[in-house]
Amino acid sequence: MGTLAGAVVIVTGAGKGIGRAIAEELGQQGAKVVVNYSRSKEEAEAVAASLLERGAAAAVAMQADVSDAVQAKRLIDETVHLFGRLDVLVNNAGINIDRTMKNMTVEDWDKVVQTDLSGYFYTIKAAMSYMMEQKEGKIINISSFVGQMGNFGHANYSAAKAGIIGFTKTAALELARFHVTVNAICPGFIETDMYTTVPEKVREAIVKRIPLGRVGTPQEIASAVSYLVLHGDYITGQTLNINGGIYM
Ligand code: NAP
Repeated sequence: MGTLAGAVVIVTGAGKGIGRAIAEELGQQGAKVVVNYSRSKEEAEAVAASLLERGAAAAVAMQADVSDAVQAKRLIDETVHLFGRLDVLVNNAGINIDRTMKNMTVEDWDKVVQTDLSGYFYTIKAAMSYMMEQKEGKIINISSFVGQMGNFGHANYSAAKAGIIGFTKTAALELARFHVTVNAICPGFIETDMYTTVPEKVREAIVKRIPLGRVGTPQEIASAVSYLVLHGDYITGQTLNINGGIYM
């Protein structure tokens, strides 16, 4: 793509955490950014306001629960209606409901799979026709190292995150002839609400398992997204691991 100046970008779940860092990274390079949120209205509006101060060509907070196919499609259609095109879709929105399988209910399973896997399909399904018509587009799916190696208490989350990796490869194959690339990023443990809600004792044990001896930062994921968008024209169907070596 070469430059983000004027490019239209959607980041799902961008009111905080990794999504916020991605929106900021792409926005400060001059993109028009849609900061999607489901519940965190104030946070998303604050992100959009700060993006405008930091050099984004445009920034709006847009509500949509991407686990709902109708709302996911509305997010994409409203973006194109507002800005005339869609260059970059970053699927980042995610939840976790951690329980051993013994205690995990069918509802726990369904809710996580619906948000963390089906939601990615819903947004891509809605976005692909615009990108195919443009004959250009970049799609980046935030998965997790947990989808590659499993994790105790993460049956629903690991299944959804592994699903993203397979889905990314299929989408990459189907969209390649339209010059639309589709890649996945698998973060390791990253310092966000999702990580800091883990009890301190567990976090201490986690850090001991990471060869580089620390958790990652949201900015480290955002930099990789920026690289794939700007310099990734010949990269598709790939899974980029940014995990401090916890999974090799
Ligand atoms: P986070 O701080 O908990 O943020 C999650 C974001 O997802 C929030 O902005 C939330 O927005 C949004 N979201 C959740 N359900 C949504 C829905 N149905 N529709 C729209 N937005 C929704 O988590 P994070 O750590 O930044 O995680 C971001 C992504 O990275 C997730 O996919 C996660 O699985 C992945 N990841 C994180 C880690 C880690 O250690 N932090 C590691 C590997 C992968 P609302 O508050 O508005 O609902």
